[in-house]
Amino acid sequence: MSEVLAQGELHGGLPDGLLERVAREMREHGREPQAVPGGLRLEGQGARVEMDLQGEAFRIRIAADDNMAVQRVRGAVIHMLDHAVEGLSDRMDWQGGPEPGGLPPNVIFATVEGVSRIGANFLRVRLRSDAMETFAEGGMHFRLLLPPEGRAPAWPVVDERGRTVWARGEDALHTPAYTFVDLEPGEGWMSFDLYEHEGSYATDWARRVAPGAEVGLSGPGGGDFPPGDWILMGGDETALPAIRRILAQSGEGRCGHVFLETGDPGDRVPLEVPPGITVTWLARGEGPDLLEAMSAVALPPAGESRYVWLAAERRLVRRAKAHFRDTQGLAGAEGYFSAYWSAPA
Ligand SMILES: Cc1cc2nc3c(=O)[nH]c(=O)nc-3n(C[C@H](O)[C@H](O)[C@H](O)COP(=O)(O)OP(=O)(O)OC[C@H]3O[C@@H](n4cnc5c(N)ncnc54)[C@H](O)[C@@H]3O)c2cc1C
Repeated sequence: MSEVLAQGELHGGLPDGLLERVAREMREHGREPQAVPGGLRLEGQGARVEMDLQGEAFRIRIAADDNMAVQRVRGAVIHMLDHAVEGLSDRMDWQGGPEPGGLPPNVIFATVEGVSRIGANFLRVRLRSDAMETFAEGGMHFRLLLPPEGRAPAWPVVDERGRTVWARGEDALHTPAYTFVDLEPGEGWMSFDLYEHEGSYATDWARRVAPGAEVGLSGPGGGDFPPGDWILMGGDETALPAIRRILAQSGEGRCGHVFLETGDPGDRVPLEVPPGITVTWLARGEGPDLLEAMSAVALPPAGESRYVWLAAERRLVRRAKAHFRDTQGLAGAEGYFSAYWSAPA
């Protein structure tokens, strides 16, 4: 197997405890780095990341199966670096990986095959692409790349530092994330379920798009299948496709509890659930919300194989994360808390 390499370098101006900060960030993102003298190592999803600190020099080496994996992993590394130390990644010089000036390898184009109604407020969109293999491995999610109404699309490009640069201002793309419902890379098609809600550009797009229309996509990315023999999950409509997929792929022996909140009973879908997992549907605004329902469940003791997974509105997710991490003592690698959307302030 051939390997693609990308190497980043940065000299001087490094904060104290850089490696510790980066390691903490990796754990926050559900990755457990291996500490080696003067460095960190991380392996998985077809890529290997080596970070080394020598005096005032910080070096990152990414080895992966192809350009696409390099760009995906480099994007994730830059994201974690920026969370660990603001502005750090802006000063890194990268060599190798995708050619500057071209389309990022994780951006593809697809044709709309059809849009059908599958729930009171859910549309299923089916897309076809010769490049669907790009999405075969590396995450459950992708982004639609929708240009502003009436403007020609300004697609992202790779810059000379190896970063993906997105158009800003009037040409900025709308890039909502979605979850694969069906993904058949070999057959060149996939589908996703879109929750219709007020003020949604993506909903307007899905309602009016005609078969044959072209759409840009980027991915795959975000959120792996969660580990844990015991699992506590929660989500609203936006997380329903992800939870449905995780449940369908969970082994028969997995146990735990799942809470799903909808505003309309017409959005409750049949789920394939392992026998040891109970599913409770919550009605929004009536009875407990997701956090109240989830926090009423007793967690197995620390040391057992347990995992808490929540995706919903940003503020609820933030409160839940504080509850499970600070009050319940859940470790970084034992939970995933993701804001799938943000309500207006
Ligand atoms: C990893 C990931 C996977 C996701 N998977 C899916 C999926 O499979 N299906 C799906 O439908 N969504 C999914 N989402 C959520 C989706 O990306 C967001 O709802 C996104 O905001 C939709 O873009 P938009 O154009 O509809 O609205 P935006 O332009 O982002 O927002 C417009 C307005 O709508 C409001 N809004 C956004 N989402 C909601 C909501 N759910 N309920 C009420 N108001 C809302 C905003 O507050 C804003 O006022 C996922 C999100 C993430 C991060």
